[in-house]
Amino acid sequence: MHMDSVTIPDAKREVESPSGRVKIHIRCRKCGEVFILRGVRDVKGHVETGFRRCLCDNDHDFDVQVVE
Ligand SMILES: [Zn+2]
Repeated sequence: MHMDSVTIPDAKREVESPSGRVKIHIRCRKCGEVFILRGVRDVKGHVETGFRRCLCDNDHDFDVQVVE
């Protein structure tokens, strides 16, 4: 790994990359509700969907699957 050798000038543009768009399949483990959202994957592999919580108030117990 050469983590320290590359400097990317425009590393600040976080979520605009068109190729970073993915579909996210989220299933609530509490009530079984399924959400299909569009997300954006950033350079670290983190996917941002804007999803916060389920209708049942669950905000942490989900099955999350990335569909590309
Ligand atoms: Zn739920």
